[in-house]
Amino acid sequence: MVRYAAIIALLTGLAACQQEAKVATATQAVFSTQNTNDTRIAKQVFGNISSPSSQPATPVGFYSKGCQSGAVQLPETGPTWQAMRLSRNRNWGQPQLVNFVQDLSRFAATQPGWNGLYFGDMSQPRGGPMLTGHASHQVGLDADIWLKPATNMSLTRQQREDISSDRMDRRDGAYVNANWTPQQEAIVRAAASDRRVARIFIFAGAKVEMCKNATGDRSWLNKVRPWYGHNYHFHVRLNCPPGSTTCAPQDPPPPGDGCADAQDWVNNIINPPPAQPRDPNAPKPVPKRELTMASLPGQCAVVAAN
Ligand SMILES: [Zn+2]
Repeated sequence: MVRYAAIIALLTGLAACQQEAKVATATQAVFSTQNTNDTRIAKQVFGNISSPSSQPATPVGFYSKGCQSGAVQLPETGPTWQAMRLSRNRNWGQPQLVNFVQDLSRFAATQPGWNGLYFGDMSQPRGGPMLTGHASHQVGLDADIWLKPATNMSLTRQQREDISSDRMDRRDGAYVNANWTPQQEAIVRAAASDRRVARIFIFAGAKVEMCKNATGDRSWLNKVRPWYGHNYHFHVRLNCPPGSTTCAPQDPPPPGDGCADAQDWVNNIINPPPAQPRDPNAPKPVPKRELTMASLPGQCAVVAAN
């Protein structure tokens, strides 16, 4: 019975994963198909462009299959933030994202022991798939934010390469550790309470902890979604900006605070369901294919060229 319940929980977890990647059915975004024969590997195109496109700012496509035009660069240093890993050149985003992270950093600076935020990857200058890491972060609406308290707001370029964030979990994401404080909770809560934000991804143990500690209005917990990794940083995903005709939104998270789902996720970490025996007749898994330019919205070929 316990085993059966665990398998059900695993299946529920898998369904939740797939949901994370589903494009909203209500998508009205209009994509051209002028690139149907473009076989170039998209990450090689976008991973080698170091400047934004000279076009009006807009996200194009979906968070994990798109690009961005007219991106703006988050300044390396602000009164309440530091962009980290500058060598990656991923401190670019839509103006809404750059404004959002600056706003959140000002809130973070009000927290005891924090002077602001350290920001990890946002997007490449024209978004798109990257040569290393990240399935999403393609349309200039995703940002990774370090969970380590930002104290030094005048880091050198080298320090921004060398310093690491702090790990916040134990037991592979099942629980928070002693680095996790009410300040991280306040910052995640502020982000999730912001109307511009669609979702936040963080390790399951942190979500369960926030579920335990949340007082008053719990509606913000709906946007906080458990995800693999995300134990040194959390990931903020903004909604499509109002009026964008080329931005494909994601279905909103299922209603409710999601706390029972997060607890299931934790239970599966602590007590993993038994591995399924491998079917010797099963077809070989198909290796994941690289996104080509043809698989992105046609407008992305224009973004790459301008
Ligand atoms: Zn991320």
